[in-house]
Amino acid sequence: MSTRALSRRIGDLARRQAEAGERHAAVAAAVDAGHAERVAFLMMVPEDLRMAVGITLRDPDGDDALHSWVARPFARWAVAPAGFQFPRALVEWLLGRPHAWFLGHHCERCGLGVPLLTTDSRDPSPPPSIVVFPTCPACGGVTSHAANWWTEPPP
Ligand SMILES: [Zn+2]
Repeated sequence: MSTRALSRRIGDLARRQAEAGERHAAVAAAVDAGHAERVAFLMMVPEDLRMAVGITLRDPDGDDALHSWVARPFARWAVAPAGFQFPRALVEWLLGRPHAWFLGHHCERCGLGVPLLTTDSRDPSPPPSIVVFPTCPACGGVTSHAANWWTEPPP
């Protein structure tokens, strides 16, 4: 092998190592960001319920609706206020999940997501209403399906 070919091979190897290092750093950053998001989410759960929420979220056969709430506990237009704590009533309802549900309502004032019950015409004992929290358990604002689709906070 000529010196020139050897030099080219070493150059290729160094470039590939640098690219692998960049990929590794990108993956590590994504993992760190995901971890930071999970920690930030759990810090909003009342402290005595945090462990139960963490265990529930790790259940591989867990509730998909719960994961949708975790992924976006607030409407797109809303931001969790600093130091926000999820209302105990909401977290306890989500842990108990007395009925199948989906994330269908949001508070019109603070944007917090709250459950709606899932039902259909075959349900032998349909709930009288699918609305679980007609008013926000955090701030008392009215909850609605429309608030989920707003693009900016109400005036
Ligand atoms: Zn609210």
